[in-house]
Amino acid sequence: MKLIIASNNSGKIREYKEILEPLGFEVFSQGEVGIVLDAEETGTTFEENAEIKARAIYGKTGCCVISDDSGLCVDALHGEPGLYSARYCGLATEHERRQAILNKLQDAGDRSAEFICCICFLDTSGEAHLFKGVWHGTIAFAEEGTNGFGYDPIFISEDSNGRTTASLPLPFKETHSHRARAVRMLLAYLAEHPVN
Ligand code: IMP
Repeated sequence: MKLIIASNNSGKIREYKEILEPLGFEVFSQGEVGIVLDAEETGTTFEENAEIKARAIYGKTGCCVISDDSGLCVDALHGEPGLYSARYCGLATEHERRQAILNKLQDAGDRSAEFICCICFLDTSGEAHLFKGVWHGTIAFAEEGTNGFGYDPIFISEDSNGRTTASLPLPFKETHSHRARAVRMLLAYLAEHPVN
């Protein structure tokens, strides 16, 4: 089955390919099928944004599409950066965005946070199916590790023995993360509703 990933984020694309290709899916990023597009994320929830991104690509291919909208929600920051994770505080680099969170949490007693990933799968008829994965953890006191992307160097998941996601081997993230959880729900759906 051919799947187009509606994303230009190389970290996300790599994770989807590493999870789905060994299962026999033919996975292409939107760039690999020649689509240059960055849909405007005008939704007010992860679900809405995931569907907006998927529909933008589906309209150009008619193939099955998966997209996700994901982000880090920090409890002491009332869920920030949340929907705005990729452009938090208007800061240009991932490092600056991570530092902004560490600075804001300097005096925080509660460092709990969660990664959220909402996948939208559009089937060949364009019907949307949504799957949401949540990964609980805490925010570290400093950056650690170089694996992964985004906020991985400051996120310590509850199942990582105190290590940041970026300091653990990639296979750990591929089996435990918010994205992995949402993908498992998608796979369970596809197993019951096979698409040719
Ligand atoms: P999106 O492309 O609009 O879904 O933006 C997602 C943003 O959330 C990314 O640019 C990262 O900053 C952050 N993010 C989402 N998933 C992850 C992850 O698995 N690790 C680290 N950061 C993530």
